[in-house]
Amino acid sequence: MIVKTVKEVSNMIPGSELINNGDIKIEGVSIDTRTIKKNNLFIPIKGEHFNGHQFIDKAIENGAVATLWNKDEPNPPQHLPVVLVEDTLKALQTLAETYRDQLNVKVVGITGSNGKTTTKDMVEAVLSTKYNVLKTEGNFNNHIGLPLTLLRMEKHTEIAILEMGMSSRGEIEFLSNLAKPDIAVITNIGESHLQDLGSREGIAEAKLEIICGLQENGELIYTGDEPLLVSRLKDTAIKTVTFGQSKALDLYPVLVEQQESGTRFTINQHENVSFFVPVLGQHNVHNALASIAVGRYFHLPLGEIAEGLKNLRLTSMRMEVQKAPSGLTIINDAYNASPTSMKAAIQLLKDMDGYEKRILVLGDMLELGNQEKQFHFEIGQFISPSYVDYVFAYGPLSAHIIQGAKSAFTADRIAHFTDKQELAKELETIASPQDIIIVKGSRGMKLEEVIHHLLEKQ
Ligand code: ATP
Ligand code: MG
Repeated sequence: MIVKTVKEVSNMIPGSELINNGDIKIEGVSIDTRTIKKNNLFIPIKGEHFNGHQFIDKAIENGAVATLWNKDEPNPPQHLPVVLVEDTLKALQTLAETYRDQLNVKVVGITGSNGKTTTKDMVEAVLSTKYNVLKTEGNFNNHIGLPLTLLRMEKHTEIAILEMGMSSRGEIEFLSNLAKPDIAVITNIGESHLQDLGSREGIAEAKLEIICGLQENGELIYTGDEPLLVSRLKDTAIKTVTFGQSKALDLYPVLVEQQESGTRFTINQHENVSFFVPVLGQHNVHNALASIAVGRYFHLPLGEIAEGLKNLRLTSMRMEVQKAPSGLTIINDAYNASPTSMKAAIQLLKDMDGYEKRILVLGDMLELGNQEKQFHFEIGQFISPSYVDYVFAYGPLSAHIIQGAKSAFTADRIAHFTDKQELAKELETIASPQDIIIVKGSRGMKLEEVIHHLLEKQ
């Protein structure tokens, strides 16, 4: 953050009241006493289970030189500048919005059901070949993480790349109005949060809220493979770029070649340029297309975009290729799962030639609402024995995956587990160094524990 005095900060939050010396300078903000840095402004947030105000002593001990403070909280600290506000969370958001408005920075906002973090990392890889960029760290994509990210912008920041996540209607609208993107990206529409949004139409509407705060002359980059988006955007006055599989779109892949260390592809109209992303799966070509469109918006030559993508570094557990000491290949996709991303992971095995056995380890997909059993069953039906040798499932809902797969697989090729240790042991028994295993499930299933076991033992 560009250095500001506490007084300047107070001025950026209408209705706030400054107590004590406002000349003290702050170099950043933090809501967390464990990660707060020297000369930071502490922003104590009141949550359901905790109240940041109670940690003020720790915040000061760890570097806070000033703090925001809810007016109705008792005992504000005596010996450092305090900015009294109605609500510290709203104040954080207001501060971030004002800060964004003050700076001459271009903002890229990225939403979608799957692939937001991956696309964000790819956009960074592309744009950082020429620009000074800041991106959302990890998955800091909500009403707290996004303002904190904006407040990390520095004098030299030229482009901020922001992930925008949601679980219900209105959230993306809020984030978009706050960040006012110059470019908005919608990666796809899946089934995540179906429980809260009722239908895929509802999910599409929620993602489209990203255009609420889009700058005049801004551009929307979205997947033209999704009819729900296409039908809603066909008459829009907004400048749009479409990407995806269909040859009717602005940007689509022509040749795609899966290699062990990543994916090589070319795009329409520029088949002389070869792109390579060091990640696997058709869905990552899809994400890469979005990042190419963003690169083009910033007038980057395709050669430079390709160079950037080659050097991509992903946030972990997203199609991460890991090798056990024995040589066994494990694809760690245990970060999260929904039906769309599950299918993408399964299909990946189709393109994985050269392995002896191809093994799927799948965990429950959570938060799918009352059709959850059906979704799991359909995943089971989706798995084809023509490119999958074994299916192992863990978790109560995953029993339905096995049910769905039953008719196509013999009983010795599929199994359901209620214990991760047992699952890992079974894998140890059947997996050989020439095999490949894909591990995928919702975050709550913590399937990486199975991988840790394999990496230690194999
Ligand atoms: P979250 O909502 O948890 O923030 P996200 O949208 O940021 O998720 P990523 O973290 O990029 O998504 O990817 C999560 C998983 O989704 C990946 O490991 C991969 O399996 C799958 N995935 C990524 N991109 C796509 C895509 N375009 N289509 C389908 N599945 C995808
Ligand atoms: Mg994410």
